Amino acid sequence: MLRLNLIVFGFALAAYVLQVLCFPFPLTTRDVLHQMFVVTGVAAWILMAEAMVIAARPAWLERIAGEPLDRLMAAHKKIGWAMVAFLALHVAAPCIRDLFPLIQVPMMEEHHITGFWQGVWTYLHPLGGLTAILITIYGATVIYRDALRGMRKIAWPRWEKAHMMWAWIFLGLALHAVRSLKETELFMPLGWITVASTVIGCWAAVRILRGRKGSPIRSGGTVEKAAGDGDVLFLTVRTAKAKEIRAGEFVYLSLPGDREDSHPFTVAGSDPERETLFFWIKEAGEWTKALGRSKPGDTLFIEGPFGTFTPDFPIEGNEAWVAGGAGIAPFIGWLEELKEARKAGKSAPQVTLWWSVRHRAEGGLPFVTALANEAGAKLVVHETGDRHVHLPPEEVLQGNPDRIAVCGKPGLTRSLRAAWKGGARSFRSEAY
Ligand SMILES: Cc1cc2nc3c(=O)[nH]c(=O)nc-3n(C[C@H](O)[C@H](O)[C@H](O)COP(=O)(O)OP(=O)(O)OC[C@H]3O[C@@H](n4cnc5c(N)ncnc54)[C@H](O)[C@@H]3O)c2cc1C
Repeated sequence: MLRLNLIVFGFALAAYVLQVLCFPFPLTTRDVLHQMFVVTGVAAWILMAEAMVIAARPAWLERIAGEPLDRLMAAHKKIGWAMVAFLALHVAAPCIRDLFPLIQVPMMEEHHITGFWQGVWTYLHPLGGLTAILITIYGATVIYRDALRGMRKIAWPRWEKAHMMWAWIFLGLALHAVRSLKETELFMPLGWITVASTVIGCWAAVRILRGRKGSPIRSGGTVEKAAGDGDVLFLTVRTAKAKEIRAGEFVYLSLPGDREDSHPFTVAGSDPERETLFFWIKEAGEWTKALGRSKPGDTLFIEGPFGTFTPDFPIEGNEAWVAGGAGIAPFIGWLEELKEARKAGKSAPQVTLWWSVRHRAEGGLPFVTALANEAGAKLVVHETGDRHVHLPPEEVLQGNPDRIAVCGKPGLTRSLRAAWKGGARSFRSEAY
């Protein structure tokens, strides 16, 4: 996303410079404030449109962004907070009049309205400004709830409903974004960028509000088997989609009648011939609890695939695979592939699978132990306990692995990345 943003913001900067060269502005309070509004407003608007598009999960998203969706979801968060920073600068822009010695002029330009449509166009400007002020005040309450979620002080389902309001906010601000530019600016490249951001952002916002995220790549399936071990559900789903999905990729699952957004789960196993997908699902909240009550024949919707955390390991060397909690799911697919490689007499790397869990008694350990044995991988289980004693990166790295693959919470991935002395290409991770 960084590369794409460098290109987009590079264009926006060039467009702005071109505009200033074509239409230089005097250093009056009104003109300088307008420039401040344009710079901060367009930057915030582009970022907001990007965040909308990522949230809408169109089928072409990964291809255009050049990154898997798990990383884009992490980028969505950063983009959102960067947008909030530009929004704050936009709101604070009037302070510019007190910070620099500018020529004082009245803030409103005089307009001579000569016809109906010119009147409509002229009055759309203050209308857009007024709605933007009201929406920004409401937006501050949504930002507050986002900050609470960042501090884990609000539960996901409640926060998700509040966060969805960004789509309405975007639609509500569209008039202000476009109409605040002068006619000379609208017909220059910076205006085109603003209009393009508005069109694509509104399209994404409408898709989100209609509950049509990722709909072209969503199809139905039926539960073939749902077996539990403690708080872990082993779910087998029959779907024609299995033909196009690899273990390690992830999909969004939803149940008929769901009102909330669908939930992402890694595909732990895929059998294209039998047309089945296998999932390792840990109970986390109400939705996973409801899924745990599934019976064979029940309907399920599958959207995807996304992601690139597939089992592509070399034929030799020493690998460390590190999973945190439910982050074990992709490695089940990796272990299956390793098992098949050994069974077929192919060369395969030496693998140590580190699995960090809160307690050994949590579900799924016998399953993973048996599979690791069959695949010839060494399994090391780390218990964080109720005091959350994290897996020390040094412990993982003391075996001098040639490559490392991590799937877990951001803290686990970041600590291992920071300690990793090998090349960037030999460190693979999902999402962070
Ligand atoms: C790329 C990816 C792959 C995942 N793969 C697996 C897997 O293979 N097995 C597994 O057990 N879990 C997996 N998860 C986590 C799983 O999505 C959540 O545990 C599940 O959505 C919880 O829903 P809930 O309503 O039961 O719990 P809630 O109480 O609603 O949520 C519990 C936590 O789950 C996460 N979560 C909930 N809904 C979403 C959502 N729509 N998008 C992203 N995160 C959400 C949040 O961190 C939340 O705090 C994965 C998550 C991601 C992002």
